[in-house]
Amino acid sequence: MSRILIIEDEPRISSFIAKGLRSAGLAPTVCGTAGEGFDQAQTGNFELIILDLGLPDEDGFSLLRRLRATHIDSPVIILTARNSVDDTVAGLQNGADDYMAKPFHFDELLARVRLRLRAEDNGSDTAVLSHGDLEMDLLRRLVTVDGAEVDLSAREFSLAEAFLRNPGLVLSREQLLSRVWGYDFDPGSNVVDVYVRYLRNKLGGERFETVRGVGYRLARGTQP
Ligand code: CA
Repeated sequence: MSRILIIEDEPRISSFIAKGLRSAGLAPTVCGTAGEGFDQAQTGNFELIILDLGLPDEDGFSLLRRLRATHIDSPVIILTARNSVDDTVAGLQNGADDYMAKPFHFDELLARVRLRLRAEDNGSDTAVLSHGDLEMDLLRRLVTVDGAEVDLSAREFSLAEAFLRNPGLVLSREQLLSRVWGYDFDPGSNVVDVYVRYLRNKLGGERFETVRGVGYRLARGTQP
């Protein structure tokens, strides 16, 4: 299981990222300051680092330089405000591998995390999920039903993935919203219901059960 270090001072954002990574089968550790993040990183225990630029005790770029100077070579994904993307490009020259502009959707971050982890090698994170005749190749972003390829949008893919990672569990609309749409999404939205309908149309209506008043569940009946 890949260990990810999150250095981010805003608890709302760090817990959102940590929750999402955990449900994607990764092992996150959160640090709220640059000092704490530096110490954690020195353990050499992390396959990847997610680094916020605006930290209370030190600029993220400066921390990144210090990490690289101590030969912490794990890939680093920078989190930055959307209006400082120019600075961020400078950061990429300073030793970062990728960046995400805030606000972002979790699935975008997860895609970048996976890409970086894959570039580092391993394959310890599950790359193919399956349920009955439904199969999802997470790295190639490929979905098949009974061997036939099905075209899903990025959002539909993330939603289907959330179900396949939690077979038999009831997932609430709030869980799905936060997992697939991100922390800035309006909790009163019916977008989850709309997208479950899309998935039913594309992957089979019986596959996703409605649990009245709670949410949705991957149907047990489709398990081989
Ligand atoms: Ca910050």
